[in-house]
Amino acid sequence: MIGGPEVAGLDVAAGLPGTRRLRFAPSPTGQLHVGNVRTALFSYCLATPEGRFILRIEDTDRERYNPESVSEYMEALTWLGLTWDEGPEVGGPCAPYVESERLPLYREAANRLVATGAAYPCFCTRDRLEELRAAQRASGLPTRYDRHCLHLTKAEREAQRAAGRPEVVRLRMPPGESSWNDLVLGLQTFDNAEMDDQVLMKSDGYPTYHLAHVVDDHLMGITHVVRAVEWLPSTPKHLVLYDALGWRPPGFAHVPLVLGPDRQKLSKRHGAEAVREYRQMGYLPEALVNFLAFLGWSPGTEEEVFDLSELRQRMSFERLQSSPAVFDQQRLDYLNGVWIRRLSAAALAARLAEFLPGVSPEQLEPIARMVQERIRRLDEVPQLVRFAFSDTDPDADRLRGQLGTAEAADFLSGVIPLVAGDVAELMPTLRLRVAEFTNGQPESARARVRQLMRVVRIALTDQEVSPPLDAVVDLLGSDRAGKRLRRALERLQAGG
Ligand code: GLU
Repeated sequence: MIGGPEVAGLDVAAGLPGTRRLRFAPSPTGQLHVGNVRTALFSYCLATPEGRFILRIEDTDRERYNPESVSEYMEALTWLGLTWDEGPEVGGPCAPYVESERLPLYREAANRLVATGAAYPCFCTRDRLEELRAAQRASGLPTRYDRHCLHLTKAEREAQRAAGRPEVVRLRMPPGESSWNDLVLGLQTFDNAEMDDQVLMKSDGYPTYHLAHVVDDHLMGITHVVRAVEWLPSTPKHLVLYDALGWRPPGFAHVPLVLGPDRQKLSKRHGAEAVREYRQMGYLPEALVNFLAFLGWSPGTEEEVFDLSELRQRMSFERLQSSPAVFDQQRLDYLNGVWIRRLSAAALAARLAEFLPGVSPEQLEPIARMVQERIRRLDEVPQLVRFAFSDTDPDADRLRGQLGTAEAADFLSGVIPLVAGDVAELMPTLRLRVAEFTNGQPESARARVRQLMRVVRIALTDQEVSPPLDAVVDLLGSDRAGKRLRRALERLQAGG
């Protein structure tokens, strides 16, 4: 039998857990996109701590199905903290949660619909449908199935089957209006006459999304469907299906589009789309969650920093917004900085590990301390700390810069004993030494300070830009720092 022990045929299991039951139902066709995961986040949060968040894999489009996507999606959700109470891997009372493993249920629903006349088999060939569409387009009519197969007699259907003709099942869209009170958009009314007779079962034996998700949302006791506004025009068909099957529909919340900064629908040309790419760019899951929550929700206050559990407490259908949301990466960067600074140094060190492969855990924490106040993304760090992991050996010209060789060497030799001391004292003592060197030359003092500090920076890091010198010495350790300074001094003396 398909279905867990509590799901018998098309009856909802009694007493399913959770006051609210919301699901995320991705079609595994590629990578999980940020726009898509936003509906997962909303469903997770709106399930509230008392409800259940369900993951269902909608893999009935076999042409677009990509088996690797399933694990990628699960990994992305887990990384974001959107753990599911029921679904693949964890199971639950409505298992299985993968549609391709539930085919008999859809077949049973389709049979029931055909038996009551709410749906009908259709044998039209692809060629005929194309010709039909072309003719409709040529006459300026909307392209729609002409119900050629609606009135076939039983004998005619059998003859088609005997001839081995591929068969689909179509919904017979009834006359009248469909209306519902959308939880985001308010009252929606559509004229059924505008709707095509939707294919419910395909000739490959798989259901379309339209049938499968209605059956599953019903059997899984889904109370609220949160999905992208693109599905709005299909909702009347779904309501007709619920009605024809004698089921009560869930509440619908159609969330607005996510737009790029140019106000066009967010897509590849705006940059990264996949959650995985955002992870690789060094965004924290906390920041991404916080950011995505605001793409269609607002707390109604000035507060802007929320963690996932706060969002789950606070998010409500009433505060979902109907106007399109703009994906502003600068805001994401800002929130990422906020979340980076909220971590302890040890926690940041742990997050940095995947950006600094091969770096020992003992080194990660000084790195974390060094970068915590300076970065917005974790992927900035490898560049900032490169000096600590590669040997630097700048030549005399590069070291000296605009200073005279003797002067640069003299300055550097005085710095060597300073790095051997307490790193907390390094900056004040270094400043004193700089002051000695700039005395009596107020005009050019600033430029000279910069040049003097530059010699030390180049000697220690071989970089023009680096973290503060005390952090550099902290990371290198005083031994290595001292060695680098001595070697630089030798270079200057040899090259001068
Ligand atoms: N599988 C559909 C999608 O990925 C789900 C839409 C829905 O949430 O109902 O778009």
